Amino acid sequence: MSFANLKRQSGNLDKLSKAIEALNTNSEGSEKSDNFWRPEVDKAGNGMATIRFLPASEKDGDDGLPWVKIFSHGFQGSGGWLIDNCLTTKNQQCPVCEHNSTLWNSGIEANKDVVRKQKRKLNYIANVYIVSDPKHPENEGQIKLFKFGKKIFDKISEAMNPQFEDEKAVNPFDLWKGANFKLKIRKVEGYQNYDKSEFDSPSALLEDDDELEKIWKNEFSLQELISDKEFKSYDVLKQRLDKVLGLNGEAPRTTVEQVKAKAFDAPKAKAEDSPFKDDTSDEDDLSYFSKLAEED
Ligand SMILES: [Zn+2]
Repeated sequence: MSFANLKRQSGNLDKLSKAIEALNTNSEGSEKSDNFWRPEVDKAGNGMATIRFLPASEKDGDDGLPWVKIFSHGFQGSGGWLIDNCLTTKNQQCPVCEHNSTLWNSGIEANKDVVRKQKRKLNYIANVYIVSDPKHPENEGQIKLFKFGKKIFDKISEAMNPQFEDEKAVNPFDLWKGANFKLKIRKVEGYQNYDKSEFDSPSALLEDDDELEKIWKNEFSLQELISDKEFKSYDVLKQRLDKVLGLNGEAPRTTVEQVKAKAFDAPKAKAEDSPFKDDTSDEDDLSYFSKLAEED
Protein backbone atom coordinates (compact mmCIF):
# COMPACT_ATOMS: atom_id res chain seq x y z
CA MET A 1 0.00 0.00 0.00
CA SER A 2 1.23 3.47 -0.85
CA PHE A 3 1.71 6.12 1.78
CA ALA A 4 -1.03 8.17 0.11
CA ASN A 5 -3.44 5.26 0.52
CA LEU A 6 -2.39 4.87 4.10
CA LYS A 7 -3.28 8.50 4.69
CA ARG A 8 -6.59 8.14 2.82
CA GLN A 9 -7.58 5.30 5.12
CA SER A 10 -6.60 7.25 8.18
CA GLY A 11 -9.35 7.09 10.75
CA ASN A 12 -11.09 4.12 9.06
CA LEU A 13 -11.53 1.37 11.61
CA ASP A 14 -13.64 -1.03 9.50
CA LYS A 15 -10.91 -3.50 8.66
CA LEU A 16 -9.49 -3.68 12.16
CA SER A 17 -12.93 -3.89 13.75
CA LYS A 18 -13.75 -6.86 11.53
CA ALA A 19 -10.47 -8.53 12.44
CA ILE A 20 -11.18 -8.08 16.13
CA GLU A 21 -14.69 -9.41 15.68
CA ALA A 22 -13.28 -12.52 14.00
CA LEU A 23 -10.79 -12.93 16.82
CA ASN A 24 -13.50 -12.75 19.40
CA THR A 25 -15.70 -15.33 17.70
CA ASN A 26 -12.82 -17.77 17.13
CA SER A 27 -11.00 -17.52 20.41
CA GLU A 28 -13.76 -18.56 22.79
CA GLY A 29 -11.87 -21.72 23.71
CA SER A 30 -8.49 -20.12 24.33
CA GLU A 31 -10.08 -17.25 26.20
CA LYS A 32 -11.74 -19.70 28.51
CA SER A 33 -8.55 -21.64 29.15
CA ASP A 34 -6.83 -18.40 30.16
CA ASN A 35 -8.99 -18.38 33.26
CA PHE A 36 -7.15 -21.46 34.48
CA TRP A 37 -4.06 -21.24 36.62
CA ARG A 38 -1.42 -23.96 36.33
CA PRO A 39 1.52 -24.06 38.71
CA GLU A 40 4.82 -24.14 36.86
CA VAL A 41 7.58 -26.55 37.83
CA ASP A 42 11.33 -26.27 37.23
CA LYS A 43 13.40 -28.68 35.12
CA ALA A 44 13.68 -31.10 38.03
CA GLY A 45 9.90 -31.14 38.33
CA ASN A 46 9.69 -29.13 41.54
CA GLY A 47 7.41 -26.18 42.09
CA MET A 48 5.58 -24.28 44.76
CA ALA A 49 2.95 -21.60 45.14
CA THR A 50 0.48 -20.38 47.73
CA ILE A 51 -3.18 -20.23 46.84
CA ARG A 52 -6.45 -19.68 48.67
CA PHE A 53 -9.53 -21.69 47.79
CA LEU A 54 -12.51 -19.35 47.46
CA PRO A 55 -16.15 -19.77 48.52
CA ALA A 56 -18.92 -20.68 46.05
CA SER A 57 -19.40 -17.98 43.45
CA GLU A 58 -22.32 -15.61 43.75
CA LYS A 59 -23.06 -16.54 40.11
CA ASP A 60 -23.87 -20.14 41.08
CA GLY A 61 -26.65 -19.18 43.50
CA ASP A 62 -27.16 -19.93 47.18
CA ASP A 63 -26.88 -23.70 46.73
CA GLY A 64 -23.63 -23.56 44.75
CA LEU A 65 -20.62 -25.49 46.00
CA PRO A 66 -17.10 -24.07 45.99
CA TRP A 67 -15.97 -26.86 43.65
CA VAL A 68 -17.27 -28.93 40.76
CA LYS A 69 -16.42 -32.54 40.13
CA ILE A 70 -15.79 -33.50 36.50
CA PHE A 71 -15.11 -36.90 34.97
CA SER A 72 -13.34 -37.03 31.63
CA HIS A 73 -11.81 -39.50 29.19
CA GLY A 74 -8.51 -38.95 27.39
CA PHE A 75 -6.89 -41.71 25.35
CA GLN A 76 -5.62 -42.56 21.90
CA GLY A 77 -6.91 -45.32 19.65
CA SER A 78 -6.12 -46.37 16.09
CA GLY A 79 -8.51 -43.66 14.84
CA GLY A 80 -7.11 -40.76 16.86
CA TRP A 81 -7.64 -39.22 20.26
CA LEU A 82 -10.77 -39.11 22.36
CA ILE A 83 -10.62 -36.21 24.79
CA ASP A 84 -14.08 -35.52 26.17
CA ASN A 85 -15.99 -34.94 29.33
CA CYS A 86 -17.66 -38.12 30.60
CA LEU A 87 -21.46 -38.03 30.73
CA THR A 88 -21.48 -39.73 34.17
CA THR A 89 -20.46 -36.27 35.46
CA LYS A 90 -24.12 -35.38 34.93
CA ASN A 91 -25.39 -38.79 36.09
CA GLN A 92 -26.11 -39.80 32.50
CA GLN A 93 -25.13 -42.96 30.67
CA CYS A 94 -21.73 -42.62 28.98
CA PRO A 95 -20.97 -44.75 25.90
CA VAL A 96 -17.25 -44.88 26.76
CA CYS A 97 -17.95 -46.14 30.29
CA GLU A 98 -20.46 -48.63 28.89
CA HIS A 99 -17.86 -49.94 26.47
CA ASN A 100 -15.33 -50.19 29.31
CA SER A 101 -17.85 -52.07 31.39
CA THR A 102 -18.33 -54.65 28.61
CA LEU A 103 -14.56 -55.06 28.26
CA TRP A 104 -14.05 -55.37 32.03
CA ASN A 105 -16.68 -58.06 32.30
CA SER A 106 -15.43 -59.97 29.25
CA GLY A 107 -13.23 -62.17 31.42
CA ILE A 108 -10.22 -61.42 29.21
CA GLU A 109 -7.33 -60.16 31.32
CA ALA A 110 -5.80 -58.01 28.52
CA ASN A 111 -9.09 -56.10 28.26
CA LYS A 112 -8.66 -54.89 31.83
CA ASP A 113 -5.45 -53.07 30.83
CA VAL A 114 -7.36 -51.41 27.99
CA VAL A 115 -10.02 -50.30 30.47
CA ARG A 116 -7.37 -48.86 32.79
CA LYS A 117 -6.15 -46.71 29.89
CA GLN A 118 -9.61 -45.59 28.79
CA LYS A 119 -11.32 -45.18 32.15
CA ARG A 120 -12.82 -41.93 33.25
CA LYS A 121 -10.55 -39.64 35.27
CA LEU A 122 -11.74 -37.53 38.14
CA ASN A 123 -10.89 -33.86 38.48
CA TYR A 124 -12.15 -31.02 40.61
CA ILE A 125 -12.24 -27.35 39.68
CA ALA A 126 -12.40 -24.47 42.16
CA ASN A 127 -11.92 -20.71 42.18
CA VAL A 128 -8.63 -19.75 43.78
CA TYR A 129 -6.91 -16.51 44.75
CA ILE A 130 -3.20 -16.58 43.94
CA VAL A 131 -1.38 -15.46 47.08
CA SER A 132 2.13 -16.21 45.85
CA ASP A 133 3.47 -17.57 42.56
CA PRO A 134 7.28 -17.22 42.53
CA LYS A 135 7.56 -18.34 38.87
CA HIS A 136 4.84 -15.94 37.71
CA PRO A 137 4.47 -13.06 40.17
CA GLU A 138 2.11 -11.38 37.68
CA ASN A 139 -0.53 -13.91 38.80
CA GLU A 140 -0.43 -12.76 42.41
CA GLY A 141 -3.66 -11.15 43.56
CA GLN A 142 -5.61 -12.69 40.67
CA ILE A 143 -8.66 -14.94 40.74
CA LYS A 144 -8.26 -18.07 38.66
CA LEU A 145 -9.79 -21.47 38.10
CA PHE A 146 -7.68 -24.33 39.41
CA LYS A 147 -8.10 -27.93 38.28
CA PHE A 148 -6.83 -30.59 40.63
CA GLY A 149 -7.07 -34.28 41.37
CA LYS A 150 -8.11 -36.52 44.23
CA LYS A 151 -4.86 -36.02 46.18
CA ILE A 152 -5.50 -32.31 46.76
CA PHE A 153 -9.22 -32.84 47.27
CA ASP A 154 -8.36 -35.34 50.03
CA LYS A 155 -6.31 -32.65 51.75
CA ILE A 156 -9.26 -30.25 51.59
CA SER A 157 -11.52 -32.98 52.92
CA GLU A 158 -9.07 -33.77 55.77
CA ALA A 159 -9.02 -30.10 56.77
CA MET A 160 -12.81 -30.12 57.02
CA ASN A 161 -12.94 -33.48 58.84
CA PRO A 162 -9.72 -33.80 60.87
CA GLN A 163 -8.75 -37.31 61.97
CA PHE A 164 -7.68 -36.45 65.50
CA GLU A 165 -9.59 -34.84 68.33
CA ASP A 166 -6.93 -32.19 68.98
CA GLU A 167 -7.28 -30.85 65.45
CA LYS A 168 -9.83 -28.17 64.69
CA ALA A 169 -12.00 -28.47 61.60
CA VAL A 170 -11.28 -25.72 59.06
CA ASN A 171 -13.35 -24.74 56.05
CA PRO A 172 -10.57 -23.97 53.56
CA PHE A 173 -13.04 -22.03 51.36
CA ASP A 174 -13.87 -19.50 54.10
CA LEU A 175 -12.60 -15.97 53.35
CA TRP A 176 -12.14 -15.14 57.03
CA LYS A 177 -11.56 -18.40 58.91
CA GLY A 178 -10.08 -20.48 56.10
CA ALA A 179 -6.42 -21.09 55.41
CA ASN A 180 -3.94 -20.56 52.61
CA PHE A 181 -2.84 -23.69 50.77
CA LYS A 182 0.89 -24.18 50.22
CA LEU A 183 1.11 -26.17 47.03
CA LYS A 184 4.36 -28.14 46.86
CA ILE A 185 5.04 -30.21 43.78
CA ARG A 186 7.80 -32.79 43.40
CA LYS A 187 8.49 -35.35 40.72
CA VAL A 188 8.24 -38.85 42.14
CA GLU A 189 8.79 -41.83 39.84
CA GLY A 190 8.04 -39.70 36.80
CA TYR A 191 4.77 -38.31 38.15
CA GLN A 192 3.88 -34.98 39.75
CA ASN A 193 3.43 -35.56 43.44
CA TYR A 194 1.51 -33.24 45.82
CA ASP A 195 2.09 -35.10 49.12
CA LYS A 196 4.10 -32.27 50.67
CA SER A 197 1.36 -29.68 50.09
CA GLU A 198 -0.35 -28.40 53.22
CA PHE A 199 -2.68 -25.79 54.66
CA ASP A 200 -1.19 -22.89 56.59
CA SER A 201 -2.74 -21.92 59.93
CA PRO A 202 -6.18 -20.30 59.58
CA SER A 203 -6.33 -16.56 58.91
CA ALA A 204 -8.42 -14.05 56.99
CA LEU A 205 -7.37 -13.87 53.34
CA LEU A 206 -7.28 -10.06 53.57
CA GLU A 207 -8.25 -7.70 56.38
CA ASP A 208 -10.33 -5.42 54.18
CA ASP A 209 -13.92 -6.66 53.68
CA ASP A 210 -14.41 -4.42 50.64
CA GLU A 211 -11.48 -6.14 48.94
CA LEU A 212 -12.84 -9.55 49.90
CA GLU A 213 -16.22 -8.67 48.47
CA LYS A 214 -14.55 -7.62 45.21
CA ILE A 215 -12.75 -10.97 45.03
CA TRP A 216 -15.97 -12.89 45.68
CA LYS A 217 -17.88 -10.96 43.04
CA ASN A 218 -15.15 -11.62 40.47
CA GLU A 219 -15.19 -15.40 40.85
CA PHE A 220 -16.06 -17.57 37.87
CA SER A 221 -19.21 -19.62 37.65
CA LEU A 222 -18.36 -23.28 38.21
CA GLN A 223 -21.76 -24.52 37.08
CA GLU A 224 -20.96 -23.15 33.63
CA LEU A 225 -18.09 -25.65 33.42
CA ILE A 226 -20.57 -28.53 33.62
CA SER A 227 -23.32 -26.96 31.53
CA ASP A 228 -24.73 -28.93 28.57
CA LYS A 229 -22.52 -27.17 26.05
CA GLU A 230 -19.43 -28.70 27.66
CA PHE A 231 -20.68 -32.24 26.89
CA LYS A 232 -21.25 -34.19 23.71
CA SER A 233 -24.58 -36.00 23.47
CA TYR A 234 -24.62 -39.78 24.00
CA ASP A 235 -24.91 -40.43 20.25
CA VAL A 236 -22.17 -38.00 19.21
CA LEU A 237 -19.79 -39.36 21.85
CA LYS A 238 -20.61 -42.92 20.74
CA GLN A 239 -19.77 -42.01 17.14
CA ARG A 240 -16.46 -40.54 18.27
CA LEU A 241 -15.69 -43.65 20.33
CA ASP A 242 -16.44 -45.94 17.38
CA LYS A 243 -14.16 -43.89 15.15
CA VAL A 244 -11.29 -43.68 17.64
CA LEU A 245 -11.40 -47.39 18.48
CA GLY A 246 -12.32 -48.52 14.97
CA LEU A 247 -15.41 -50.29 16.29
CA ASN A 248 -18.08 -51.63 13.97
CA GLY A 249 -20.39 -48.70 13.37
CA GLU A 250 -23.23 -50.97 12.24
CA ALA A 251 -24.25 -51.99 15.73
CA PRO A 252 -27.96 -51.24 16.34
CA ARG A 253 -28.59 -47.79 17.65
CA THR A 254 -29.34 -47.76 21.36
CA THR A 255 -32.81 -46.50 22.10
CA VAL A 256 -33.66 -44.36 25.10
CA GLU A 257 -35.53 -47.34 26.59
CA GLN A 258 -32.44 -49.52 26.27
CA VAL A 259 -30.29 -46.85 27.88
CA LYS A 260 -32.72 -46.66 30.80
CA ALA A 261 -32.85 -50.44 31.10
CA LYS A 262 -29.06 -50.50 31.21
CA ALA A 263 -29.07 -47.77 33.82
CA PHE A 264 -31.04 -50.05 36.12
CA ASP A 265 -28.49 -52.82 35.58
CA ALA A 266 -25.60 -50.57 36.48
CA PRO A 267 -25.64 -50.95 40.30
CA LYS A 268 -25.03 -54.70 39.89
CA ALA A 269 -21.92 -54.06 37.86
CA LYS A 270 -20.82 -51.51 40.43
CA ALA A 271 -20.74 -54.11 43.18
CA GLU A 272 -17.70 -55.60 41.47
CA ASP A 273 -14.48 -53.86 42.27
CA SER A 274 -13.95 -52.23 38.90
CA PRO A 275 -11.66 -49.20 38.58
CA PHE A 276 -13.92 -47.19 36.30
CA LYS A 277 -16.76 -47.08 38.80
CA ASP A 278 -14.66 -46.19 41.81
CA ASP A 279 -15.45 -42.53 42.31
CA THR A 280 -19.22 -42.31 42.10
CA SER A 281 -20.97 -42.06 45.41
CA ASP A 282 -23.95 -44.35 45.92
CA GLU A 283 -26.07 -41.39 46.81
CA ASP A 284 -25.54 -39.84 43.38
CA ASP A 285 -26.44 -43.08 41.66
CA LEU A 286 -29.55 -43.55 43.75
CA SER A 287 -30.89 -40.07 43.10
CA TYR A 288 -30.32 -40.62 39.38
CA PHE A 289 -32.14 -43.93 39.37
CA SER A 290 -35.06 -42.64 41.39
CA LYS A 291 -35.35 -39.71 38.98
CA LEU A 292 -35.58 -42.16 36.08
CA ALA A 293 -38.24 -44.10 37.92
CA GLU A 294 -40.29 -40.94 38.38
CA GLU A 295 -40.16 -40.20 34.67
CA ASP A 296 -41.64 -43.63 33.93
ZN1 LIG B 1 -17.54 -42.07 30.69
